[in-house]
Amino acid sequence: MSVNQYVRKILKDIKKNPPEKLDLMVQEIHEKVFNETDCLKCAQCCKKISPIIYQHDLIRLAAALKMNLDGFCEKYLKIDKDKDYVFKSSPCPFLAYDNRCEVYDARPTACRDYPHTDRRRFHQLIDLSIKNADVCPAVQEILEKLVSVAEKNLAFKRR
Ligand code: SF4
Ligand code: SF4
Repeated sequence: MSVNQYVRKILKDIKKNPPEKLDLMVQEIHEKVFNETDCLKCAQCCKKISPIIYQHDLIRLAAALKMNLDGFCEKYLKIDKDKDYVFKSSPCPFLAYDNRCEVYDARPTACRDYPHTDRRRFHQLIDLSIKNADVCPAVQEILEKLVSVAEKNLAFKRR
């Protein structure tokens, strides 16, 4: 999975010269794509990327598992090269055999927000989204649809 060179080129142009209604367009496409996406048949994000675990995540997860913070950190977390807490193991230790999240109600903020395609000021997230498309088929589809809509409906000119 990844977006092709043509889509990348247009996305770079969109980043440089974002259409006025870019956030609205991406939001609509995001809703449509995720309405038709069954994440339980995928779980690539939980298998391939570890979310950053912030302090509030740690507290919530440890509480949900009825563990103390030190015990939780020791069992599940490590510090990565950017000095952030991430899960020690990949796939995520809380990913069940049927792709469900065993700590869904207490899952980290990064898991709730992934893949960020419904965030405001999307043009600032284009590079991250291109990277995420390597893992997430929904992001790939969103970016391809965005390029198609941008070309058709806006006075958006390729350089
Ligand atoms: S905590 Fe849940 S949602 Fe987050 S990576 Fe693990 S299984 Fe996936
Ligand atoms: S990689 Fe994307 S499509 Fe797959 S489970 Fe994660 S968010 Fe859903």
